[in-house]
Amino acid sequence: MSRSRRRRRRGVYISPFLLLAAGLILAALAGYLIWNGLHPGGGGNDIPAGSFQPGTPSGSDEPRKEHVTTDSGIACTLTDLGEDAVYTGDLVLVSNAVPYHFPDQQDLVSIYENKTSSYYVRDMEVLLCPVPLEALNHMMDDFIAQGGSKTVNVVAGHRTREFQQHLFEQSSDQNGLDHAKEFVAQPGGSEHHTGLVIDLYLYFSNGTSGDYDGTGEYAWINSHCQEYGYVVRYAGDKQSLTGIADEPWHFRYVGVPHATEMVEKGMCLEEYIDYLRQFPFDGDHLTIEAGGKKYEVWYDAGSEVYLPDSGNYTVSGNNVDGVIVTCEVS
Ligand SMILES: [Zn+2]
Repeated sequence: MSRSRRRRRRGVYISPFLLLAAGLILAALAGYLIWNGLHPGGGGNDIPAGSFQPGTPSGSDEPRKEHVTTDSGIACTLTDLGEDAVYTGDLVLVSNAVPYHFPDQQDLVSIYENKTSSYYVRDMEVLLCPVPLEALNHMMDDFIAQGGSKTVNVVAGHRTREFQQHLFEQSSDQNGLDHAKEFVAQPGGSEHHTGLVIDLYLYFSNGTSGDYDGTGEYAWINSHCQEYGYVVRYAGDKQSLTGIADEPWHFRYVGVPHATEMVEKGMCLEEYIDYLRQFPFDGDHLTIEAGGKKYEVWYDAGSEVYLPDSGNYTVSGNNVDGVIVTCEVS
């Protein structure tokens, strides 16, 4: 009893020097606030004309400015993209926890009809979005060019909700519901729904096949895929975040700048979507250098976002709460 009382007394002891220092800081702060109140705009005078003028931070009731120029000189206009913008694009996070919002129409093409001769595809039914397919062609052509063998077989691409339902029920019938829940995404929760994902398998000229594990000659693909816009989506050491065990055969397209940044930072998509929120339009922007190009990236909550007036840029929702703008600056 007496011991705890003594500890409490010791806890409230404050050095007179600390009190003096705190007093001085408070006085300085009060002076600064009064000065700024008397001189509106004071403190902002060191910002050169034409540079970044912050819009309204989220949470404020004041309307945001319609036109704003970023620090690096990108003229932008506030644009309402509509709610669907949050749920579409190369950066959408899809999992059992964050289900896919199925659009009315998806731009999908047959890999079989559009691929190069550097790899195989299971059949004519394997579909992918056009941009990831072009990136896959480049990646596999370069894999062969640097000495790889023609043995890679794309066995899965886009999946409909119905097909994922079938896979889930099949796994549940064969191995039980618990096993299915652990190893198979639920309908709506597979990122294969996006058309941005491929699963690789091996097919050998003697007619045999095998699992793709990303080792041996295939380590080239797993360590270079970001240069083509792909990431190895499910790594064993991220299972607690992704909910999915190690899958060295499952590749997700996110575009070259973001794939490069994700690999550099060692982040899975769950972490990366969080990380991008640190770069709101009204704050510092993220700069990414990838593939000999430089990109300026920002995040805007909701679907009312600042878009560049010109130049090359892409827009993607995160499938959670906002939109990411990726702008090529050189
Ligand atoms: Zn997969």
